Amino acid sequence: MRNCFVYKCDWKHRHNPKRAMFVLPKDPEKFKLWSDVLPKHRRLTHSDRVCEKHFDPADIVRDWLHVIQGETKKLQRSKPYLRRDAVPRHFDLSEAELDAIARKSKRMSVKPERKVEPVEQNLQIETPTEPNPPPQCELNESEASAIFEDIYENIFEIELPSTVWGVHRDPERQYIAFTRFQLLANPESRTSRTLLIKSTLKCCAWYDSQSLFEDDLRSKLAPLQNGEEHSRFNVISSMLDSLEQLLDESQTK
Ligand SMILES: [Zn+2]
Repeated sequence: MRNCFVYKCDWKHRHNPKRAMFVLPKDPEKFKLWSDVLPKHRRLTHSDRVCEKHFDPADIVRDWLHVIQGETKKLQRSKPYLRRDAVPRHFDLSEAELDAIARKSKRMSVKPERKVEPVEQNLQIETPTEPNPPPQCELNESEASAIFEDIYENIFEIELPSTVWGVHRDPERQYIAFTRFQLLANPESRTSRTLLIKSTLKCCAWYDSQSLFEDDLRSKLAPLQNGEEHSRFNVISSMLDSLEQLLDESQTK
């Protein structure tokens, strides 16, 4: 799995692709809490993720506890989740990496003439409670299609919520699709999810055969106007995560 926000983390753990990824808290206060402690080499957004390596192991819940005939049984969750108050706290960054982060952080700060200061102080300059506003640019057809081509070619860079998800690419390059399929013991509880992204960057999602939403991804997937890095793969991963969570909710009803 890829796309941890922490500087160079994906590269350091490239031989451990199975590590769990966690989305940033939606609550603005918690988002700020995370943003304050995370060393930032670029702006942090709500589509970023932080991997399990940065949390206390006790903050990560990996099992379900079931009491079956008076006996407590542990079942591994397909996707671990974080305890409510968990905050990332382990970054394992060398002096050189901290220097690089401070340089990058300085570059994105609003006062470029400031002398280099410790990362913690530079973090104050930002307003981390505000996610990047979607760029207001209207992409023309060929720009949208170039972005689609990039996603089509690199579709395996997109982190899927779990192993029951699959990817599909239209041989005519008109669309890509993500589906979730799981055969459960009770056929009536069988469910499927589909996310379809067309070459125009219009997308739609289904829950079984029922339409969930339609969206235009052009502004979400467009390059940022301030030239900062931005991962379109994270945008799509987040959409898949919300479809996955929808399933969890329907199962607990
Ligand atoms: Zn990480």
